[in-house]
Amino acid sequence: MRLIILGPPGSGKGVQSKRIAEHFGLVQISTGDSLRQAVATGAELGRQAREYMEKGLLVPDDLMVKLVMDRLDQEDARGGFILDGFPRTISQAEMLDDLLQKKEKTLNAVLELKVDDRVVVDRLSNRRLCSRCGADYNLLTKPPRVDGLCDRCCGRLIQREDDREKTILHRLQVYHRQTEPLEAYYGEKGQLLTFDAERSVEEVSAAIVEAVESGAGG
Ligand code: AMP
Repeated sequence: MRLIILGPPGSGKGVQSKRIAEHFGLVQISTGDSLRQAVATGAELGRQAREYMEKGLLVPDDLMVKLVMDRLDQEDARGGFILDGFPRTISQAEMLDDLLQKKEKTLNAVLELKVDDRVVVDRLSNRRLCSRCGADYNLLTKPPRVDGLCDRCCGRLIQREDDREKTILHRLQVYHRQTEPLEAYYGEKGQLLTFDAERSVEEVSAAIVEAVESGAGG
């Protein structure tokens, strides 16, 4: 099974793609996570991507295409994947289509998470992550038991550099301008499934599982 998950920052792509990957036995491939890891380890890709990410801009397509091609070539991706954060532009989508065509593979569905901009700003400005284990918290809806510390491992909680309000607004603009056109792109191919992502995590996952199992979008 090959799936894509689309949605603005803060729509829950990360959480939902992990749950869907687990449910269907797929690998979750998050380009944002791969880039953040490359930045953290000081890899060449990270050095090239860092400035764009901190400003809330998209990393250039050539870097992204190479990253995704290499990742999809790895053994574990052959059994099926869910792509989280890629494609983000029409040209990335066309590149993915070409790549899949060469491998004689198709997408089963493109899952689109819909959330109002106001909800995104609220969610992201309150998002905190554990600097040690990556667990995620929300100061309003899922606060840690002890202020500033992870419930699981006592690691220090941090705010993602790009989760500051000014950068969130910028990321939303970039989403509307560059990524939203993918709605029409996949809609015309009959692959798009749209979900109201303002509901609870469990409700959204259940709706996705039901739609994918019923074969919609394929
Ligand atoms: P995310 O964790 O998906 O919100 O991604 C964080 C940041 O990584 C984005 O704001 C971009 O700067 C960069 N990024 C992730 N995926 C892509 C992509 N497919 N194309 C360009 N930039 C990306």
